[in-house]
Amino acid sequence: MVRFSFQIIKNQETPNIVCSFDNIRYIFNLPDGFQRFTKDNYVKINPGPRIFFTRLSTQTTTGCFGYLSTLLQQNSGISTKIYGPKGLCKLINMKRFNEIGGFKTLPYSVQEFNGKCLLGTKDMKLIEELMKQNDCKLQEYLEKIKEHIIDPKESNNASIYMKNSTLFKDENLEIQAIEINDTIQYIISSFPQPGNYNKEKLSQFNVPTNKMQEMQKNGKVILEDGQIITIDQVKEPNIIPQKAIILDIANHEQMQKLICNVEFKKTLEQFNSQQINLVAIFHLSHQIQEEYYKDFIKQYSNFNHIFCNYYKEGNDNICQAHMKIQPLSELLSNFLHQSFPFNFPHIEQQILKPIPKDFQNLNSMFGYVPLFEYVILPIKQSGYRPVQNFSPKVLSQMFTNNQFKNFEQQFLQKAKDHLRLIFLGTCSMKPGQLRNVSGIILVNEKLKSNIILDCGEGTFKQISDENIVLDDKPLIIWISHAHSDHHLGLLQIIYNLSNSHQDIYLIVPAIVVPWLIFFKEILGEQSKWKIIVSQQFDEDFKDDVNQLIKDCFHQCRIRQGEQVQIVENQNFIKNYEDLVNCLKDQFELDSIRVTPVEHCPQSYGVRLNLCDGRSLSYSGDTRPCERFVKLSQNVDILIHESTFTDDLQENALQNMHSTISEAVKVGMLADAKVIALTHYSQRYSRQMEINQEILGNEKIVFSCDHFGGYLNEYSTLSQISKEIIQLFNE
Ligand SMILES: [Zn+2]
Ligand SMILES: [Zn+2]
Repeated sequence: MVRFSFQIIKNQETPNIVCSFDNIRYIFNLPDGFQRFTKDNYVKINPGPRIFFTRLSTQTTTGCFGYLSTLLQQNSGISTKIYGPKGLCKLINMKRFNEIGGFKTLPYSVQEFNGKCLLGTKDMKLIEELMKQNDCKLQEYLEKIKEHIIDPKESNNASIYMKNSTLFKDENLEIQAIEINDTIQYIISSFPQPGNYNKEKLSQFNVPTNKMQEMQKNGKVILEDGQIITIDQVKEPNIIPQKAIILDIANHEQMQKLICNVEFKKTLEQFNSQQINLVAIFHLSHQIQEEYYKDFIKQYSNFNHIFCNYYKEGNDNICQAHMKIQPLSELLSNFLHQSFPFNFPHIEQQILKPIPKDFQNLNSMFGYVPLFEYVILPIKQSGYRPVQNFSPKVLSQMFTNNQFKNFEQQFLQKAKDHLRLIFLGTCSMKPGQLRNVSGIILVNEKLKSNIILDCGEGTFKQISDENIVLDDKPLIIWISHAHSDHHLGLLQIIYNLSNSHQDIYLIVPAIVVPWLIFFKEILGEQSKWKIIVSQQFDEDFKDDVNQLIKDCFHQCRIRQGEQVQIVENQNFIKNYEDLVNCLKDQFELDSIRVTPVEHCPQSYGVRLNLCDGRSLSYSGDTRPCERFVKLSQNVDILIHESTFTDDLQENALQNMHSTISEAVKVGMLADAKVIALTHYSQRYSRQMEINQEILGNEKIVFSCDHFGGYLNEYSTLSQISKEIIQLFNE
């Protein structure tokens, strides 16, 4: 029997829904942190998913760029199909700009309901054209990504599943899109399913088990006594189509239009005439408190309603489960918080609102339940069920034995400082269950300002878990290079700070500028970001910065007929001057220095010189590099990437990363007081072999997510950090 189910993922403000039909996944919206949250929710995302957007906004789409990169690396980009409202093609097309300045071509195919189709092709001609340019580094880089380039003959077409402009239909499901003012509501329907064999009837007719195959094949069997038994005599009747609806209603007007919609009405009629079974309506909206929404729900109270942003209070098992279950990442951080209260935050379980009282007594109202899925088929199991392969017991047992007793007293906070350095994400490429992608924050508790160094997807959630408020405080975000695991988190942060009265200074390599400007144009969201080009902080950079940006925009024009306007009113030089003028007063910084490092085009390392004479430096992604050693001379804390353990030296060379020993050597050459390591390959999510020499070196600190301390504490954190990293070794 097939399994048809829906799982809500709600680790942050915007929920999304993963629908499973056997092995195919149908994903509705991709918010920031999507990949991380699927792991934390035990959602297995198989290759070749079908992705649907209810609307195009920062909140519903920013997770798609990182996720599409992962699909590309798994070579399943081409089997991925993406659907959504008008504007979707433009948005996904922009994916090309978020890494290496637009050189990567696009394997994904995209279909707008009632609109355009974007064919995913691998256009080798364009790549070759670029390679003709006399840029040696670019050529080397393209050589490296060549393995990801799929056969140019293959083109990828999302419209193969489009039966008409609003109807998606594949081997499992039919999905009707109802378009209402730029948002899409989805009606999802299974096809009639064959009923199960009825065991009682089988034994009643004396059908032996060895005849079952014959029964399945011929629709009947002849028993030894000559009696003919047909399949209908021993089978349950066919199961009528099972439907679910996903609603994303933002206002009264949209609700009115939904109620009057022909397709919506038709579905309700089919239900009334028992042609279908409307199992559940999922509500993505936060609006259920509004009168118009309440009226709607009361009018259709005979259906099951599932409110993705709310929980249900009560005594039943499902309500109890909601209160108890915590994702593994939260559980780990809270366990570490108990042992090291000054180095790990207490993460509050996310606060959901209770379903309004008006609905609490209705039996057909459900809230969000973490790690549960809503099962639609098989019918016998329908309703909320714990996610398969998940056992809450296993989670709670994972961290019960306190291995850190010795440290408890020894490392209590000693001296006061007001600068906290916190690692927000310590994983490379794509996030794991216990590690997010790159992010570091330096919090100035006195001046109430923040500096973020790299900002991978999901960084906003990591910052919120630290109880750090970014709003209305001066903020610098510095991005090391164009790989998306280092900058995609920018979008959610910028969105959440759109009402902030303070300037946000984004220091990015010139190659990232077109991506940011395109994104801003497409989603039209306003905020006070000031883009500054990294190169302006490099003392050795002698070229014209404006020309460099123009070149980067020019390089993005790799598709024929595509016009890319350079946004002339972006005043990069003035932004730079504004920031330099407020460095001291708002950030206690004397200066920011950057230097090119050896990774992909326009990769940088950075040094922050504090007014009190202290300093820290961060390598970004790089091979060990002399320029970074020079930049980091006598630094107090040197943060270096260490993607691989020493046995994978070859991988480090090939992928332009460093091993642990190489990173340590850079720190020693620079005479750094503390060497903090980060950016571990996701292969070390659970286990990392570290040699004795490194473990014995008191200068070295191994970071993990949420690990932090005051700057003056870092010289004492080495031992704790090594204990913690060994906790992951199972
Ligand atoms: Zn990286
Ligand atoms: Zn990188």
